[in-house]
Amino acid sequence: MAEMLRVNNLVKHFPVRQGFFGRSRGKIHAVDGVSFTLEENQTLGLVGESGCGKSTIGFCILRLIKPTAGEVWFEGHNLVTAPPETLRQLRKELQIVFQDPFGSLNPRMTVAQIIEEPLLNHLDLSASRRREMVAESLSMVGLLPEHATRFPHEFSGGQRQRICLARALILRPKVIICDEPVSALDVSVQAQVLNLLSKLQRELKLSYLFVSHDLAVIRHVSHRVAVMYLGQIVEEADVKELYSRPLHPYTQALLSAVPVPNPRKRRRRILLEGDVPSPLDPSPACRFHSRCPNAMEICREAAPPLRSINEDHQVACHLYDENRPAPAESGNKKTLPAIPGGNTTNQTM
Ligand code: SF4
Repeated sequence: MAEMLRVNNLVKHFPVRQGFFGRSRGKIHAVDGVSFTLEENQTLGLVGESGCGKSTIGFCILRLIKPTAGEVWFEGHNLVTAPPETLRQLRKELQIVFQDPFGSLNPRMTVAQIIEEPLLNHLDLSASRRREMVAESLSMVGLLPEHATRFPHEFSGGQRQRICLARALILRPKVIICDEPVSALDVSVQAQVLNLLSKLQRELKLSYLFVSHDLAVIRHVSHRVAVMYLGQIVEEADVKELYSRPLHPYTQALLSAVPVPNPRKRRRRILLEGDVPSPLDPSPACRFHSRCPNAMEICREAAPPLRSINEDHQVACHLYDENRPAPAESGNKKTLPAIPGGNTTNQTM
């Protein structure tokens, strides 16, 4: 499969200033060394708690905010260092759909004006061609031509998100960053918008970076999933592999909280205790160690790198480090935690 977008070691720190003279108090490490690849015609789901930095990654890719360091490769250009004109050209092929469909639509503009705005900014087309393209985009997202003359407040939440999608599609992009696109919608409407996204992906060969905190939504739309915790990817795998064999203690805790749609089946819930560490100048330890039920001495001293467990699965956890010192109680065997919802016998390596 062809590579569409590659992110290398992306970093975004926000300085925190205090007092009359704005003295620096440190930096919020919103994104810290994130790397991944988005393949053509695929969806990469980015999942994690609110505030873990997943939306910041999307904004950095589009250069809506400037990354502190790292590379974002698209069509042979590094978007982080690309000059403004190159960036403007490439932005035609990289679009975003935001979480709040009402807040992202100008209430004073008609639907036609909203959807054709990217055409006016990027292409020199006649008014009749623009009207045709607006009608095509409306039809692609399941709206009618007569909707073009109406205003955003005349639509439901789901329809407004369709208008946002029509605007994103009008320039025929290759990549769409979907930033929590259904979390503000009712569950029944969520399903319609998710099915529409899947249909558009099949028809237009789109690649999605799908950001969400909802594991069920991520499972439904993604081909691969990256789990984030406090600005870092802690686990990445193919969607089936991740949901059937989660390895990182944080992923296991997240999945243990998802309700099972079968009253006879019970899943052992993992309750996380301890405080979420501050993203302000975090220590070099594993960022999950204060809440991790499997934390060891080494976890308080050094952050684990993201390492491959197999061809399709990467995890950042000392439990899977073959060279870590064996815990005293387990002799020379290194015991891995049980997998909730999957095989409950402990694995050894
Ligand atoms: Fe838990 Fe240690 Fe793994 Fe971090 S490295 S997730 S603290 S076991």
